[in-house]
Amino acid sequence: MTATSMRLRRRAAWFERGAHAIGCVVSPRPPAGYVCPLCLGLFTREQLDAGELTDEHVPPKAVGGNPLVLTCVSCNGASGGLFDESMADEEKLRTFGTPQSAGPLPGSVSFRGIRNNGSIDFDGERWKMLGDPGQNNPETLAAHTESLKHLDAGSSLELRLSLKANPRRARIGWARSAYLAAFAVYGYRYVLQPALDPLRAALEDPDNSAFDPVIFRTTGESELDPLIGEVTAPQFLAGCRAAVFGPRVVLLPPWGASQDWFATLRKQVPDEREEVITLVPVIGQRFPEGPIHLTDG
Ligand SMILES: [Zn+2]
Repeated sequence: MTATSMRLRRRAAWFERGAHAIGCVVSPRPPAGYVCPLCLGLFTREQLDAGELTDEHVPPKAVGGNPLVLTCVSCNGASGGLFDESMADEEKLRTFGTPQSAGPLPGSVSFRGIRNNGSIDFDGERWKMLGDPGQNNPETLAAHTESLKHLDAGSSLELRLSLKANPRRARIGWARSAYLAAFAVYGYRYVLQPALDPLRAALEDPDNSAFDPVIFRTTGESELDPLIGEVTAPQFLAGCRAAVFGPRVVLLPPWGASQDWFATLRKQVPDEREEVITLVPVIGQRFPEGPIHLTDG
């Protein structure tokens, strides 16, 4: 079987699983088809075959995620521009200077007063600086290259990183991934609770929304090994759901939380901080390979 036909078969299976799940949740007149977990639009089997539902990576492909659920083309496409770039830049900044470096960051290097614009990567031992011909005057670039001949052990270089990452957009992007992971694991019954309404609304227009999710940093270095679970400690978070992406713990509401749950938590936790969080994984150590919708059947 070719990769394409395998992908189509997988999509059809995910479609059927989702259509069955929503059918269990909405009664007595269930919708005939699959409901996009982000915009809640209804999609028929014909629309699936026409390519209107696509594989959604959780977390985004730009930070190394894998396909986990189906979302509609418009929800999937909107995310790339709005959130993925900020998440990817933030991840590169987090791993800059470590062996797990997620790739070069845009920046410039100045030596003897001559600046070279391009990208900079650092894995903790080795610096890699790449000039971008599109961003430099050719003579300046040549002069810079020439000046580097004078570089020796006592020289000092000025490095400047110019990130475009918008930290709030990155946070909303991670919350979006956490929401989709919760949808894959728990199902419609969980994500259709009123407490999740503000999250979906913020995805449509993040810059005009007050929504700001809480993301804790765990101490210590961990790989980007996604996990979903129920928080047991600290006490004030007990019962919350959490999706873990490496060192990030994205908090999600417990069952039956009120519509202002995200806003209330933000007031309790005004700043990003490190916290020791204990959680019980729902399904082993990693996300499932596809949607399982545990609570809908
Ligand atoms: Zn959608």
